[in-house]
Amino acid sequence: AQERYASIRDKPAKTLCGATIGLTMNAGLMADLPSLEGSGAEGVGLFRTELQFLIRNQMPKRTELAELYARVLDSAHGKRVVFRTLDIGSDKVLPYMKPNDEPNPALGWRAIRVGLDKPGVMRMQLQALIRAANGRPLTIMFPFIAQAEEYYAARAEVDKTIAREQRLGHSLPETLEVGAMLETPSLAFATERFFQDVEFLSIGGNDLKQFFFAADRENERVRRRYDTLNVSFLSLIEKIVERCERTETPLSFCGEDAGRPIEALCLAAIGIRTLSMRPASIGPVKSLLRRCNLMDVRRVIADARHRGDQSVRPAVMELLRNQG
Ligand code: PEP
Ligand code: MG
Repeated sequence: AQERYASIRDKPAKTLCGATIGLTMNAGLMADLPSLEGSGAEGVGLFRTELQFLIRNQMPKRTELAELYARVLDSAHGKRVVFRTLDIGSDKVLPYMKPNDEPNPALGWRAIRVGLDKPGVMRMQLQALIRAANGRPLTIMFPFIAQAEEYYAARAEVDKTIAREQRLGHSLPETLEVGAMLETPSLAFATERFFQDVEFLSIGGNDLKQFFFAADRENERVRRRYDTLNVSFLSLIEKIVERCERTETPLSFCGEDAGRPIEALCLAAIGIRTLSMRPASIGPVKSLLRRCNLMDVRRVIADARHRGDQSVRPAVMELLRNQG
């Protein structure tokens, strides 16, 4: 499939109206990394670090993780890699951790909640990341931040770890960016102050959608019931875009929808400027973006809303059919 898009691999995802959309890839295993070259991704917008924990039968050691993260950075050849700290719980249960036996794991003790309550593993991971960077730029992203305080607490852990590493004589990252995933509707309505403070945000559409529509992403019966291009969900994304524009907070979208061409086009039309997706989706998404004018898509979205459509999908599909 990548061969099909080889001719545009090194070209930007520039739309007919002149907007350039950054396309990055999601990864998590070493085997994903060769795709960074092949897909034309501009970097790794989401490195799911939990995958390395999930494929083992015991907790990895710090030195092991540091080596692994160093290899990730080596193979990125200077392209930005966004390392998301451990996102466990819910659907991702470590075989060597006591299961929580919670009635609603998706709403339970997961991700940053575990990281902050039992900071040992998170500290080990932060140390491993700093040592892996070894003087190179480092980008860290915290999963499942539902309220600003969780970001500040996690950020404080980073600062403490940096100070400790410095005392131990390790070289510090050349630059350090610390961001958060926006995966719960609550964070979209956090204070202006939070939007100013957070260094970047990435919308985790998979989780955000499941909480917005109260529809379990793992439950086949309900998960496809609500369209991403539903006008309510698009309004939420627009709200986030507006707030980030006002505070000049870099924003990306890294859920599965980023890799679906029509969804990606609509996200770009409402102002998302960086999308992170599985590598195989970069070609198809770029190909469509390069053939479209976002102003036309915006107009079609506005008309659909005006008419009272539930989802903008039919109208956008029609626009694309007319475009040929
Ligand atoms: C998301 O929730 O959209 C996301 C990118 O994270 P994950 O799919 O790993 O939960
Ligand atoms: Mg998520």
